[in-house]
Amino acid sequence: MTAIKSIVWFRQDLRLEDNPALVSAMEKGDILPIYILDDVNAGQYKQGAASRVWLHHALKALDESLAGKLNLYKGDPLQIIPHLCDTHGIENVFWNRCYEPWRIARDKKLKPQLEEKDVNVESSNGSLLWEPWTILKQDETPYRVFTPFYRKGCLNAPAPRKPYSIPKSFNAHKDKNSCALQDLNLIPEKDWHKDMTKMWDISEKGGQQRLQDFLDEGLNNYKEGRNFPAQKNVSRLSPYLHFGQISPNTVWYKADALKYDDVGGKNKAHFLSELGWREFSYYLLFHFPTLPEKNFQPKFDHFPWVEDLKNLPKWQKGQTGIPIVDAGMRELWQTGYMHNRVRMIVGSFLIKNLGLHWHHGEAWFWDCLVDADLASNSASWQWVAGSGADAAPYFRIFNPVTQAEKFDPEGTYIKKYVPELRDLDPPHLYAPWEAPAEKLKGANISLGDTYPHPLVDLKKSREWALAAYAEMREENEAAD
Ligand code: FAD
Repeated sequence: MTAIKSIVWFRQDLRLEDNPALVSAMEKGDILPIYILDDVNAGQYKQGAASRVWLHHALKALDESLAGKLNLYKGDPLQIIPHLCDTHGIENVFWNRCYEPWRIARDKKLKPQLEEKDVNVESSNGSLLWEPWTILKQDETPYRVFTPFYRKGCLNAPAPRKPYSIPKSFNAHKDKNSCALQDLNLIPEKDWHKDMTKMWDISEKGGQQRLQDFLDEGLNNYKEGRNFPAQKNVSRLSPYLHFGQISPNTVWYKADALKYDDVGGKNKAHFLSELGWREFSYYLLFHFPTLPEKNFQPKFDHFPWVEDLKNLPKWQKGQTGIPIVDAGMRELWQTGYMHNRVRMIVGSFLIKNLGLHWHHGEAWFWDCLVDADLASNSASWQWVAGSGADAAPYFRIFNPVTQAEKFDPEGTYIKKYVPELRDLDPPHLYAPWEAPAEKLKGANISLGDTYPHPLVDLKKSREWALAAYAEMREENEAAD
């Protein structure tokens, strides 16, 4: 049997295509492909329940692509990898870089540990189009606003690397100490996830197929259609991108290669710029690593958040009495995904109408989203709260009724996820508490019984938010 030369440490890159670490390792000879479930260094950022279910299936699929040779471990890579190097006489360790602060800290500790053993360590970029330190302003400081970051920074920088194809052949080995997938305990005992997993093909092939379907059917009206949650104009690639089952380079170049007329060109440019938002989130997290914990704008540290959490479980369960909010929260619960427009609506409602700190939303999304991503989740919650970099101004409060009127004009999305309202038609569907009694009766709705009364008065809670914001601003101006 030939000797194993290198470890390929799979992390957020659970794919064979366009995997720079795998390509580099193959050049050296036989490989030991490994994945380590690291809840030790992750601490409070260990993956949430929905992400773990996704991870289980993603590892299963990767193992199949590697002909059953994926080796699995659970624990601290700082102990596991040096031990594997000793046991197998490993000469090289290859990985693709991650950008979460805890992963950077861990990898920085591991590298010298391995080098002391004369193991060569090589890391590559397999997850971003432009790595955060390559895009800086003229004065060498990081951008804080998206448009100049993307237009002046990224689009003027060298073009992203072209994707690598799947290696033709490589020799992968199985370690007898690898644990079984079930031993990672990623699947919970309660079977809430069964319907969710039916909706996705959680494999590298599934990610490629989703991209193709989107390019064929969704992209041509993306700029406009991406706002309508009932339309099929978004890609739903976010979990595949998060787990690295498809690389952003593959998505970028396949989309960019399509030829469109002027209107189509706008759609394509808009889609590419959304990948730019993903880059910007990672960029912010890298340059401002406290993003998941602290307000990017410290003036929000003194905001008078509501401390009574009695409304939180109702928001989480989609029982707020505001149909578009409930539809979104139930979509999240049932599918592990929520449409971006609705993420903004439910976020604005939590923060500005219920007055609850954005951390509560961030934590719930972390547990329920299959695309839960430390960078995009924290950057986006801070964006909605108004406390982030280049955030929506705090006083921009989404009105969930007018948002629903505009972006769910037939009520298709609401009716799908809030079936108890299915016989109520627009415009009453958007605000059942304002519907005439006979309309409610005709639709078999009894408010407070078959569907909740609204948790808060939208107008009054909006006024509260604006007053709290004005007070915070005055206090800050006085302190300056
Ligand atoms: P598409 O519209 O098809 O976009 C293509 C890709 O671009 C996405 O897959 C995603 O990788 C990226 N992208 C698009 N919009 C954004 C954005 N606003 N910010 C960052 N990247 C973007 N996205 C996550 O991937 N993980 C999260 O945990 C997450 N949490 C969010 C929380 C809130 C409160 C909000 C408002 C947004 C959050 N987003 C998050 C961003 C965005 O909602 C999702 O990326 C998007 O809805 C994914 O759907 P899609 O793949 O169909 O997107």
